[in-house]
Amino acid sequence: MRLAILTNFWSTGKLRGDRFLFTFGAYGSHGVIVWETCFEDALNTAIDYLEEHWPGLLVSREEEAQLFKEACEEMGHALPCEDSPCEDCNKAHEKAMADFTCGGGNSGRYIASWEWSGREISRQEMKKLLSDVELSCGEIERVSA
Ligand SMILES: [Zn+2]
Repeated sequence: MRLAILTNFWSTGKLRGDRFLFTFGAYGSHGVIVWETCFEDALNTAIDYLEEHWPGLLVSREEEAQLFKEACEEMGHALPCEDSPCEDCNKAHEKAMADFTCGGGNSGRYIASWEWSGREISRQEMKKLLSDVELSCGEIERVSA
């Protein structure tokens, strides 16, 4: 597993919020540990990291456009509404991306819902995971945000 640990400190030097672990890829090949005040923010931070370092784990812009186009065709909605998406565009996009999770964040990028999981973890769980990754010769990258 390739694991990234994104520490995020308050100005007081304390770690920010709670500790979350996200795994990505069909077999959980990549992991991100992040400290944030809530799950949503943590997921956004993790996805922003993916976009910068492991973009192959995200739904590509091309794939997203293709799914959107197909959904429009299914709905009988003629494209393009390039400048401002109409109500049908929005519906089609929602339908196209129903099986995907939007990371929001800075990028609004999507990940396949079946290819990620995330939860809060304890310090002990993190230590166990770190030693497992080290034992299996995985990669650990420490990043301070
Ligand atoms: Zn439209």
